[in-house]
Amino acid sequence: MSAAPTLDTDRLQELSGAFSGTILEPDHDRYDEARRVHNGLIDKRPALIARCRGTADVVDAVVFARQSGLEISVRGGGHSVAGQAVTDGGLMIDLAEMKGIHVDPDARTLRAQGGVTWAELNREAALHGLATTGGVVSTTGIAGLTLGGGLGWLNGVHGLAVDNLLSVELVTAAGEVLTVSESSDPDLFWALRGGGGNFGVATWFEYRLHPLREVFGGLIVHPLDAAHDVLQAFRDLPLPDELWVVAGLVHAPDGSGAKMSALVVCHAGAVEQAERDLEPLLKLGSPVMVEVGPMPYPVVNTFFDEAYPPGALNYWKSTFLGELSDAAIDELVARFAAAGSPMSAIVVERFHGAVCRVGVSETAVPHREPGFNLGIFAEWLDPETTEENIAWARETYAAMEPHRTARRYVNYLSADDVGDAVKDAYGPNYERLLEMKRRYDPDNVFHLNHNIDPATG
Ligand SMILES: Cc1cc2nc3c(=O)[nH]c(=O)nc-3n(C[C@H](O)[C@H](O)[C@H](O)COP(=O)(O)OP(=O)(O)OC[C@H]3O[C@@H](n4cnc5c(N)ncnc54)[C@H](O)[C@@H]3O)c2cc1C
Repeated sequence: MSAAPTLDTDRLQELSGAFSGTILEPDHDRYDEARRVHNGLIDKRPALIARCRGTADVVDAVVFARQSGLEISVRGGGHSVAGQAVTDGGLMIDLAEMKGIHVDPDARTLRAQGGVTWAELNREAALHGLATTGGVVSTTGIAGLTLGGGLGWLNGVHGLAVDNLLSVELVTAAGEVLTVSESSDPDLFWALRGGGGNFGVATWFEYRLHPLREVFGGLIVHPLDAAHDVLQAFRDLPLPDELWVVAGLVHAPDGSGAKMSALVVCHAGAVEQAERDLEPLLKLGSPVMVEVGPMPYPVVNTFFDEAYPPGALNYWKSTFLGELSDAAIDELVARFAAAGSPMSAIVVERFHGAVCRVGVSETAVPHREPGFNLGIFAEWLDPETTEENIAWARETYAAMEPHRTARRYVNYLSADDVGDAVKDAYGPNYERLLEMKRRYDPDNVFHLNHNIDPATG
């Protein structure tokens, strides 16, 4: 939006009067902290930030924004690299203080509010020896991650986050509160399982939990000149459901800029089985570091946290590869050698197991084939190097053109991935999502997201 509408002070007073949370105007001392998101590249200034405490606050904020003609953005955990949780000149509906979590250990379910992070959710579930699929990094919000599909350490054994989602409390564009589940509204529930923030503000999520106390996890690190062998071993490893492996071309965490190849593993089965399943990786070459062993699941979820500090500058590109051919590996290694920032990484995640036993159109997430999800993650601290880091990510993505498919994971899209990128993220499910968007948000009130524009098609 170009010029922000003038705010009606009476209406604003009415909103503030009943609000349980806080309305932050630009002169409020917490405004600057609240408008910041994980990606330091994002520097937007909302006209107002509605720091909600509960569902009633969210309803009032949606109604107020619509009456005032303000663009709406929705912040869950604030982690999206695309930075669409913040609006320039509109109303940011900020769920950062909506932290309620309740576990029902007998039913093995958990309900959590939209501002919860995976670290917070894991902690409560672990009290009861339970867990569910969450993101790889524990500081990511459950809201955006789940609504986009949600891949993580337990994918092979328990599927995506959406495959464990039982219901969502949703505030619609009309300000209605719906509890959406397979039985209450199968169409909308289908759309919420992958369709991102397109359908309303999700205030509560209900998940299925699974018994899981410890996993066998850790890191195997090799020098970069072993990268080809490491990526081949990763590609060829037989994967039981219990095992999830991420291969990364990464920099040493000491800031030296040393380039390495790493395997990060998480095995949710018995220790003996984990040792057996991981043997080909543990026996490979001459690693510079092997740190694997039993650990609580919430710990494995923090492995990457330090590599993604809040406020660092991020620009990501991603796509699924058809196969991880030797030629694709060569290209990735060559491109990583050209990475300028000692924080940038190239990551490959294998899709297999439970994720791939769900049908392509059973949820809005179409990525149900075994395969390789490639992430080109440019990350840096010095704003002077922004252009070169963005160029590196774009050039690396372009270099992978002969190896990639049209498929893309919506949660890894950048703000400039528009048009076909969103269609590619939904593939055969795009048309049904468009139909749902026209039914539930025909005016595109919720458009600051990887948008399914009801006016297209
Ligand atoms: C370091 C890092 C690691 C990541 N790791 C993973 C991973 O392992 N697996 C994975 O699947 N993804 C991962 N992602 C991507 C992540 O899932 C998305 O960025 C996701 O949007 C983050 O959710 P959030 O709530 O923190 O984000 P936000 O920035 O708060 O929200 C992103 C968008 O989601 C929508 N949204 C957020 N909350 C709500 C809500 N309550 N109701 C309706 N819409 C909402 C809005 O459109 C918003 O613009 C990672 C991202 C980062 C930066």
